[in-house]
Amino acid sequence: KFAAAVPLDEIAYNEQGLVPAIVQDYLDGTVLMMAWMSRESLAKTMQTGETWFWSRSRQELWHKGATSGHLQHIHSMRYDCDSDALLIGVEQVGDIACHTGERSCFHQVDQDIVSPPADTLSQVFAVIRDRQQNPNPDSYTCKLFAGGDNKILKKIGEEAAEVVMACKDDEPGAIASEVADLFYHTLVALAHHNVDIRDVYRQLQSRR
Ligand code: AMP
Ligand code: ZN
Ligand code: ZN
Ligand code: ZN
Repeated sequence: KFAAAVPLDEIAYNEQGLVPAIVQDYLDGTVLMMAWMSRESLAKTMQTGETWFWSRSRQELWHKGATSGHLQHIHSMRYDCDSDALLIGVEQVGDIACHTGERSCFHQVDQDIVSPPADTLSQVFAVIRDRQQNPNPDSYTCKLFAGGDNKILKKIGEEAAEVVMACKDDEPGAIASEVADLFYHTLVALAHHNVDIRDVYRQLQSRR
C-alpha cells in the first residue's frame, strides 16, 4: 500500500535524537501539524503506514490518534535538502489534526486568516461555502446561489466559451483570467450540489 521512502540512517537527527515532521493533507496541501519523530517512531510510521511521533512532554512513543481516533494514513513521505526535516502527506481521519478539535494546528483565530493554509482553489471554495451559509445581498456568489442551477450552469457555459475564445486569440492574460472565471463558477456549482472540492482532488490523484 505505502512504500517506505525515507532511509532511516540518512536522517540527521538532532542532539535529542529527533527530527521535525511537518504533516500536510495529501489532497489540498493544508499544513495540519508539526511534531517530532525519533528514529524508532519514523520506523514505526513506515512499517504501519500511520504516523508515530515522539512526545517530548510524555517522553514516549506517540501513535497519533490512538486516543482521539484521529489517525493519519500516510500517502507520501519526503525529507529536505540536508535531511533534517520530514514532510508527510496524510489522509487525516475525522479531518481533525489538532488536539483542540481544529482541523489544523495553524488556526490563527486572532488574525484575519480564517481557514488553515491550503491551496488557492480550496481557499476560494471555503469562501464560497461561507457565502452559501451566510446569504448577503451584496455578494455576487450569493446571487448565483439564489439563481440556482439556471443561473450557475448558464455562467459555466458562457465562461467555457470565453476560455475557448481567449485560447483562439492566443492571449495569455485573457486565458488566465477566463480560466479563473471558469474555475470559480464550477466551484459554485460544486457547492450548490454539495460536492466537496476534495472529492475532485481525490479523482485527479487517483488517475495519476
Ligand atoms: P491523539 O494522538 O490524537 O489521540 O491525542 C493524544 C494526545 O496527544 C492529546 O491529548 C495531546 O496531548 C496530544 N496531541 C494530539 N494531537 C496533537 C497535535 N496536533 N499537536 C500536539 N499535541 C497533540
Ligand atoms: Zn534542512
Ligand atoms: Zn494543535
Ligand atoms: Zn469570463
